[in-house]
Amino acid sequence: MKHSIIVGFGLAGFHYAQQLKSHNKDFLIIDTSQNSASRNAAGICNPTVLKRYTIAWKGAEFLKYAMPKYQSFEADFKTQVFHSLPIQRCFFSAGEQNSWSVASQEDGLKEFLDPIFQTNSLEGIKRNFGYGSVHNVGRLAINELLETFLTHLNTDQKLESTFDYTALKIHDDKVSYKGVEAKNIVFCEGYGLKENPWFNYLPLIGSKGEYLKIKATELSQEQIIKGGVFISPIEKDNFWVGATFNRDDKSNSTSEKGLQWILSKLETLIDCPFEIVHHGAQIRPTVSDRRPLLGNHPLHNNLYVFNGLGTRGVLMAPLLSSWLYEFIDFKKELPDAVAINRFETYFCNPKKTYV
Ligand SMILES: Cc1cc2nc3c(=O)[nH]c(=O)nc-3n(C[C@H](O)[C@H](O)[C@H](O)COP(=O)(O)OP(=O)(O)OC[C@H]3O[C@@H](n4cnc5c(N)ncnc54)[C@H](O)[C@@H]3O)c2cc1C
Repeated sequence: MKHSIIVGFGLAGFHYAQQLKSHNKDFLIIDTSQNSASRNAAGICNPTVLKRYTIAWKGAEFLKYAMPKYQSFEADFKTQVFHSLPIQRCFFSAGEQNSWSVASQEDGLKEFLDPIFQTNSLEGIKRNFGYGSVHNVGRLAINELLETFLTHLNTDQKLESTFDYTALKIHDDKVSYKGVEAKNIVFCEGYGLKENPWFNYLPLIGSKGEYLKIKATELSQEQIIKGGVFISPIEKDNFWVGATFNRDDKSNSTSEKGLQWILSKLETLIDCPFEIVHHGAQIRPTVSDRRPLLGNHPLHNNLYVFNGLGTRGVLMAPLLSSWLYEFIDFKKELPDAVAINRFETYFCNPKKTYV
């Protein structure tokens, strides 16, 4: 019998599978490989909030756990997936420069924000009011990470398919799905959770993000630019640019409005030629209280959820997966902020409108 069936293989499914692998537990991953936020994300790992100059919730704690995990993945699979790159935060006013100087002295932020801001121009970027550098951050090549992991699995550990909820049999001590038995099932479906009959009572809101991939030969590959949008290097002369943030539209389709918004931001930021090579969109799994969703179903002890990674899956998923693993195997309590029992009343009132 397997330890877990994992439904969904984005960052949540990957990190939970990694936990199991490192504890020598067997699993089956079932994934449609469609509608994946992870496979469309920029992959930026950043514990700071560069709009408001604050540290993200538990940002430093998540980063401290995440970095060694990505490094040990690289060592195990002999490949590079994490690229340490500074984020250059471009300023558009003297006020932004002042806010930066103040924030860079604050506890929690000073290990990331360089107190000395620059007034020179960056290759291909408009000078405006200069920029400040964020250190100890970088970009995870998520597609390479996921593909590398999948390639090394045995054939009985992965199944490319849409999960059929009606085929799951729930017993007291195990679950079974189309002939596969496991002690637990862990749903890591991102925004797909909305279709899940056991966990769709949870207040997953979803925030659509549109982005571009551009070719620009004059931009540097050695840094991530932030100024209205992120510009992140992906491969030689190619950059990821985005993203929009829209809570009203839950479709995965791209829009003219999204395109124009990104282009208008790019126009104020760069002064070099570029060519659009791709326009994409996907839904981020965001939650009403902006905290992750971890835990088990109120009525079924062997049904678990790992979701709500929001805008920071790269940073948070490693430590969250460890909390979930210890919760499942050792009954160690989950931190209140992430435990889904904070929404138990939603389960008791399934008809309540909460989004
Ligand atoms: C445009 C954009 C940019 C982003 N940029 C960043 C960034 O720079 N840094 C960062 O940290 N985060 C970023 N994010 C957020 C990040 O993508 C998410 O936090 C994270 O990827 C969510 O991972 P997940 O595994 O929960 O969901 P997903 O990545 O969406 O994975 C869910 C998987 O489950 C599968 N699935 C769902 N339902 C079923 C089913 N019934 N049967 C089988 N399979 C199913 C889907 O096919 C998918 O593969 C960005 C998101 C977007 C949209």
